[in-house]
Amino acid sequence: MIRLLGFAAIAVFPLLASPYALTLANYSGLAALVALGLVLLTGVGGLTSFGQAAFVGVGAYATAWLTTAQGASPWLGLALALALSGGIAGLLGAATLRLSGHLLPLSTIAWGLALFFLFGNLDALGRHTGMSDIPPASLFGHTLNSSLAGYTMIWLAVAVAFWLCGNLLDSRAGRAIRALRGGTAMVESLGIDSFAMRLAIFVIAGMLAGLSGWLLAHVQRFISPTAFDVGPGMEYLFMAILGGAGHLAGAILGAAIVTVARDRLQDVLAHIGPNSGQLEVVVFGALFVLILHRARGGLIPAVLKLLPARTRANPPDAAPLSRRALPEAGTVLLEVDQLTKRFGGLVAVNQVSFTLRAGEILGLIGPNGAGKSTLFNLVTGLLRPNAGQVRLLGRDITGASIRRIARLGLARTFQHVKLRPSMSLLENVMLGAHPRGRAGLLAATFRLDRAEEARLAAEAMRQLRRVGLDAAPHGLAGNLALGQQRVLEVARALAADPLLVILDEPAAGLRKPEKAALADLLRQLRAEGVTILLVEHDMEFVMSLVNRIVVMEFGTRLAEGLPAEIRANKAVQEAYLGGVA
Ligand code: ADP
Ligand code: MG
Repeated sequence: MIRLLGFAAIAVFPLLASPYALTLANYSGLAALVALGLVLLTGVGGLTSFGQAAFVGVGAYATAWLTTAQGASPWLGLALALALSGGIAGLLGAATLRLSGHLLPLSTIAWGLALFFLFGNLDALGRHTGMSDIPPASLFGHTLNSSLAGYTMIWLAVAVAFWLCGNLLDSRAGRAIRALRGGTAMVESLGIDSFAMRLAIFVIAGMLAGLSGWLLAHVQRFISPTAFDVGPGMEYLFMAILGGAGHLAGAILGAAIVTVARDRLQDVLAHIGPNSGQLEVVVFGALFVLILHRARGGLIPAVLKLLPARTRANPPDAAPLSRRALPEAGTVLLEVDQLTKRFGGLVAVNQVSFTLRAGEILGLIGPNGAGKSTLFNLVTGLLRPNAGQVRLLGRDITGASIRRIARLGLARTFQHVKLRPSMSLLENVMLGAHPRGRAGLLAATFRLDRAEEARLAAEAMRQLRRVGLDAAPHGLAGNLALGQQRVLEVARALAADPLLVILDEPAAGLRKPEKAALADLLRQLRAEGVTILLVEHDMEFVMSLVNRIVVMEFGTRLAEGLPAEIRANKAVQEAYLGGVA
């Protein structure tokens, strides 16, 4: 509904606007395309880029060169603009997206500057004066050189890009992209290739900027390198953040506000002194800092608060996703064989062996520092052992990647719950089912994934029902109490259709009734045939629940047996002396 109003406003605007307002609207639209990419990249994916203006330049120069020096059609120029901006983004992304922390944003400044200097120093691109006499695009014999034609092309592009990006975010790939923010450990543990997802949004953002550059070249008909400097690059980022980088609409709002404000500001600053362009940077810089301090989320969240909340129906049932073949109860599922891990001189896990059979709950307990977490990390692929083997259904998985192990059917939860608090319960669980879907970015963008999406949603809904969290599937995960968040993590693990669920200290931090509820859930799951490895510090929690127990102390296996045997074991009692459990 709101989208329809937006599209209607875009359609009606040129009928009411002055030529001057139309020009401003054109520049807003051009900027909005770049800012849309930044919403995906920064607001959604958590990757900050100051260099997007350089991709606008790539698109603009590609088509300007092809249509002037080579005399080719602007539509061929569009293909080259998109291919080059996407291709260069792919190369730069492949080289820099593994950089951590502040190195990535810094690198975007570096290549932003590098491309800017390239544009300004190549003879073929007109050096610092740029390129002029770029032909307008034409369609069915009509030359698209009026202001209205420019408006139509630009805002049609914005509307289509907005729709496609919206489709993308509301899909299997989109969920993975939205999950990137907040660390890759969880994303990889769900079998999702986080690097590929980052690269994808980096390329998409680059292509949106390239599209903006193509439109700029053919609507404005001249280009010069100053528009593609890091300064404008920061302005695009400012637009996205001002509007609300977490929302696609924020890109359009931010681009419109900044474009109009800059125009007004130039009028005002012109009275102050001759170098008003530089003062403009000061004003925007100050506003940028103010926004980051006062309203990180930008303006759109404030707008959304004024609108009535969307009510959504629970997802309907759909054909179940295909399941992996589960071994019969009693089959040896997991074998940990003489596993050893050293940290320097410390042997954190020392020749530990045990087996886990399908259908049982095995407890792995031990006092603090016993090596439980290290063993957990060895089994799930976070750490590589120095010696020994881990086998899943007889297949050697020692040293395999987290993602591969996850895809083979090992689903885990985290000691410190790792959910995406701003995503719904349903979406968090759907993330768990990610490897069971196929639809890629392209299918999602063009809405060809709806049947599979319905099946994923129905599966997530079934798992929510299974763990008793189906009352409000569209509620936000961040609003749940800790005990329920743990349960939600279990549902996410179940959605992967796992061979084995490994829980890392699930009772940690829970209150008594929450622990009891979690224990009931795990018992119910065992009754349903789910195999569980429970790594836990809390001995009492484990005792009432598991079939067998392995006790670790100082990195070695201290004892193994039935709960009653472990309780009676003198060595175990001594290890737990002081009653920490
Ligand atoms: P638990 O989970 O049973 O409390 P851990 O596996 O966390 O035990 O730790 C076992 C031992 O290994 C401890 O002495 C801990 O200090 C040490 N340790 C764990 N991780 C590392 C690491 N990354 N580097 C060095 N020492 C570590
Ligand atoms: Mg631990």
